[in-house]
Amino acid sequence: MLDSKLPNVGTTIFTVMSQLAAQTGAINLSQGFPDFDGPQALRDAVGRHVAEGRNQYSPMTGLPALREQVAAKIARLYGAQVDADSEVTITPGATQAIFCAVQAVIRPGDEVIVFDPCYDSYEPSVELAGGRCVHVQLDARDFSIDWQALSDALSPRTRMIIINTPHNPCGALISRTELDQLARLIADRDIYLISDEVYEHLVYDGRQHASVLAHEALYARAFVVSSFGKTYHVTGWKTGYVVAPSALTAELRKVHQYVSFCGVTPLQFALAEFMAEHPEHLDELPGFYQAKRDFFCNQLAGSRFTFQPVAGTYFQLVDYSQIRPDLKDVDMALWMTREHGVASIPVSVFYQQPPEGQRLIRLCFAKREETLRQAAEKLCAI
Ligand code: PMP
Ligand code: GLN
Repeated sequence: MLDSKLPNVGTTIFTVMSQLAAQTGAINLSQGFPDFDGPQALRDAVGRHVAEGRNQYSPMTGLPALREQVAAKIARLYGAQVDADSEVTITPGATQAIFCAVQAVIRPGDEVIVFDPCYDSYEPSVELAGGRCVHVQLDARDFSIDWQALSDALSPRTRMIIINTPHNPCGALISRTELDQLARLIADRDIYLISDEVYEHLVYDGRQHASVLAHEALYARAFVVSSFGKTYHVTGWKTGYVVAPSALTAELRKVHQYVSFCGVTPLQFALAEFMAEHPEHLDELPGFYQAKRDFFCNQLAGSRFTFQPVAGTYFQLVDYSQIRPDLKDVDMALWMTREHGVASIPVSVFYQQPPEGQRLIRLCFAKREETLRQAAEKLCAI
């Protein structure tokens, strides 16, 4: 028998819950993906580029026109100048970008600090590099960084910290002040950063996303990751990017060129074209998703779930303590899917050690109003 390199890894919760939703016919608010399509012009552009024969390998670093669009967007939104040639790399999805960044930096014995609840791909990436994740819990009240716990977790072996803002699954944001605090904490240490910002444009109520790209001291040691999948409602296109200072980018590309070499060519042509022609898409996104969040939260107001509307992402956390305090969240998610026809994601799976008595599930509101209305009706009946 092969001695597993990832003995603790099973099938991801996203696959498990989406499969169960399909089997039972439940409304799927579990795995995060829209049930509506990306912009027509973007989809048409892919068809056109395929028909016109843009079907061979793109440059390993990504299509220049797309890298330039990414750099232009970063300048426009965050006021930061990054070099499209030496600092931007297009990858087949943010997951691959994170994997490559980890492999480029982490050696056996290194420690990587992650914050629980923690997105599921980080730890396996670290373990495959021979590193070890040190889990620091976010403050259970508002999912902010517990600075004492972070400071206690630092060791001479700490080589990397992975942050995620806006945060999946909690919807919390890291503020500029917190980025400053993080920069001070690691200023004299040889520590790199991955900043997972795939939900950078999904920030609500007039709040601003504090990007590491706009933080000079942190950016100097960071890989900033994003995903066209979230931004353009096309998660199945698995196209993302990573921005890092040129020396870090050079090391990242050494890995990327052997993990996948390049991203999918016609998709990159279409995205570059759409970004150039429709910059307003990004400006409209917060309002677009905030309306969905508000619609869903209003519909849930009559339910026995309790919640605070999220600050960012397209996930709403809800507390079910008043409904089935006897059930742990995994059992609650299974019961709700089978008995009440709504699939969700239990939050405990994102923890090394889930907080005792926490009763939270995550609901994805990247759905058509009709889907949200039907789901809310079922949730209100529980
Ligand atoms: N990070 C987070 C926090 C995510 O939620 C996702 C989403 N699916 C990813 C990374 C991966 O993005 P992609 O689908 O582009 O690989
Ligand atoms: N990021 C998505 C989520 O949080 C899932 C992506 C996946 O299925 N790997 O639901």
